[in-house]
Amino acid sequence: MFRLEAEIIAIGSELLTSHCIDTNSLYLIEKLNSIGIEVKFKTIVRDKEEDIIQCIKNAISRSQIIIATGGLGPTEDDITRECFSKALKRKLIYYPEIEEKIRERFRKRGLSMPLICKKQAYILEGAKVLMNEWGTAPGMKIKEGNKLLFILPGPPKELKPMFEKYIFHELKKLSKQFVCSKSIKITGLTESQTETLISDLYKKIENPKISILAYPGQIEIRLIAHSDKNYEAAESLVENMIDKFRERLKNNIFSTSGEELEEVIGKLLKERKETLAVAESCTGGLLSNRITNVSGSSNYFERGFVTYSNEAKIENLGVPKDLILKYGAVSKEVAEAMAIGVRKIAKTDYGLSITGIAGPTGGTPEKPVGLVYIGLAWKDGVLVTRNQFLGDRESIKFQSTQKALDMLRRHLIQKT
Ligand code: AMP
Ligand code: MG
Repeated sequence: MFRLEAEIIAIGSELLTSHCIDTNSLYLIEKLNSIGIEVKFKTIVRDKEEDIIQCIKNAISRSQIIIATGGLGPTEDDITRECFSKALKRKLIYYPEIEEKIRERFRKRGLSMPLICKKQAYILEGAKVLMNEWGTAPGMKIKEGNKLLFILPGPPKELKPMFEKYIFHELKKLSKQFVCSKSIKITGLTESQTETLISDLYKKIENPKISILAYPGQIEIRLIAHSDKNYEAAESLVENMIDKFRERLKNNIFSTSGEELEEVIGKLLKERKETLAVAESCTGGLLSNRITNVSGSSNYFERGFVTYSNEAKIENLGVPKDLILKYGAVSKEVAEAMAIGVRKIAKTDYGLSITGIAGPTGGTPEKPVGLVYIGLAWKDGVLVTRNQFLGDRESIKFQSTQKALDMLRRHLIQKT
C-alpha cells in the first residue's frame, strides 16, 4: 500500500530555548496523521543560514512532503525565504501586490508599514503564494521535482488557518487514505505487564499501528489503521485488534471510547440507579473533584467528606477513636471504618474511602510515603486494599483516586 510521508522543519532559535515549545509540529502531525500521512522526521533548527539550508536539503533528499514553519517575519533573524532561495537555487521575486496587501493591513490599524516588512513581499520563483489573512507574512507552495514543499509563518494563529485553508484538503486528496484511530484505556496493570500480555499480537504488524503510552495509574494503547478502500475497512482492522487485546487484557480495560474512569463509573452507577458517597483523607477532595467533573454526577454522587484530621474522621464519619489510637489513621481498619461510616451517614449504596501518606514527609519505615489504604463498602460487604504507590505528592494523590474509582468499577461490573 503506497503511503505518503512528510517531514516538518520548525525554524526559530527561540524554539531551542527552554521558554518556547514547538507546538506547530504537534498540530501538523495530528492533522497529517488524520489523513493517513505519516511524519518521518521533524527537525527544529535555529535561525542560522547554513543550518537551515542543510535541513532543507536533507528533507528534500528523503521526504515527499515538506512543511517548514517560522522565520518569515520581518526581523533580521527571519531568514527562511533566503535559505530556501539558496537551497533550491530559486530567485526571490518582489510582488508589489503583496506589499500593498501588507500596507493595507497596517493602514486598517491606523499605522504605516515599517520598511522592514517589505521583505515579506518577496516570493520564491515558481512558488504559489498562500495569502495570509491572519497576519502579514504570506506562505508558499513549491513543487520541486516530485516533492511538495510548503512554507508557513510561525505564529500558530496564522499557521493553523493557513494549513486548513490551503494545504489540508489538497494533501487529503493526494493521500487517498481512510484512517481510523481509537484508544484503549487500562488501569490495574503496569506498562511492562501490559506489554508482556500483548506484544506478540502486534509486534510485526504495521496496520494498525500501535503505540503504548504510560501515565501514573493508567496505560493507553493507541491504534491507528489505514485503508485505501474505505473507512469501514480501516475501522475493522482496529476493531479486530481491539478484540484480540480484550481477550488478553480483560477487565483491566475500562474504556475503548476515550472515556475517563470517572465517566465509566458514572455510567455504571446511573444504569443501576445506585448512589455513592466518599470520604477522603490524603487526596484532599480530588476524588470528589474527579467524580463531579462528570456532567450529571448529581444523579449518583450524594456527598464527599474531606476528613483530614482524626477529629474529622471521628465526628463526620463515626470512626471509633480507639480504632485510630490503636491502628493509626493510615490503616486497613480506619479505611474500612471510613467507607462503612460514610455509606451509612449518606445513606448511599456505596461508600469509598482513602487514607494514606502522600509525602514527601510523614513516612516511617512501617508506613512509608505512598502507602494508601482504600476502602469500598456496600450493602453486605466491605473491601480494603493496601497500596504502595510511587511518585511525588500529586501523583500519589492521583493514583489513589484512580485505584478507588477502579475498585468501584470492578465491583460494579462483577455484579452484572
Ligand atoms: P516567526 O515566523 O519566526 O517570526 O515566528 C513568530 C512567532 O511564532 C515566534 O516568536 C513564536 O512565538 C511563534 N512560533 C514560531 N515557530 C513556532 C512553532 N514551531 N511552534 C509554536 N510557535 C511558534
Ligand atoms: Mg523567528
